[in-house]
Amino acid sequence: MRIDIMTLFPEMCEAVLSESIIGRARAKGLVDLRCVNIRDFTEDKHNRVDDAPYGGGMGMLMQTQPIYDCYQSLCTEDEKPYLIYLSPQGKTLTQETVKDLSRRPRLALLCGHYEGVDERVIEEIVDEEISIGDYVLTGGELPALVLTDAVCRMLDGVLPNDEAKSLESHYNGLLEYPQYTRPPVWHDREVPAVLLSGHHENIEKWRREQSLRRTALRRPDLLEHAPLSDKDRKILQSLQEETSNGV
Ligand code: SAM
Repeated sequence: MRIDIMTLFPEMCEAVLSESIIGRARAKGLVDLRCVNIRDFTEDKHNRVDDAPYGGGMGMLMQTQPIYDCYQSLCTEDEKPYLIYLSPQGKTLTQETVKDLSRRPRLALLCGHYEGVDERVIEEIVDEEISIGDYVLTGGELPALVLTDAVCRMLDGVLPNDEAKSLESHYNGLLEYPQYTRPPVWHDREVPAVLLSGHHENIEKWRREQSLRRTALRRPDLLEHAPLSDKDRKILQSLQEETSNGV
């Protein structure tokens, strides 16, 4: 898979994408990540990429021409990367969207800055607007890096253990169970005995129950869409009874 990040701050993105799991995936050729400087495409003799908004108001807007030409440089006759504009006005990023995006051969991510970008270039070339949450950042670089990280870890071979991702929060619609490592007792807090028992079936059962319990307590909204078995529903029902009995 290839992802091109269209940005005014390529070094900022490179710094993050060269480290740790994503850095290693790049080095192994599992994913092709490129940071493209939008400023390299400006036709302005002073290298400007922004201007004041029509109608007045504070701040500057990124202009259409450098963004359009930057995107065109990534397109061939046969292949146009799916272009996402990171924007606080977009659809909120979820694990389901991440999974869908990870199946595409190419993505391009447009990072806005200042007050954002001229609406016309969004209408002309953007396929989808995605937000990473209901708050406003100074630029689209951090959101683009969040999206890139989340998508890359879905790709085969990127995580040391590919199976692990299916157990993590949100992948299967639930939050993950609590986890513990050595030592077995810390500050008088003991690791749950079942995890030290070596009884795999009981451990799996405990983990599923904890996962359901956590989701019911912290994110009950997720249960509406989570794939649940009859056994899961029974567990949730007894949790509900426990809560209403004040247990
Ligand atoms: N004026 C814009 C508005 O009110 O919708 C906000 C512009 S913001 C200061 C600058 C850039 O940061 C945006 O163009 C976008 O690329 C990025 N950005 C800020 N918050 C974001 C969020 N929650 N999710 C994704 N991108 C965001």
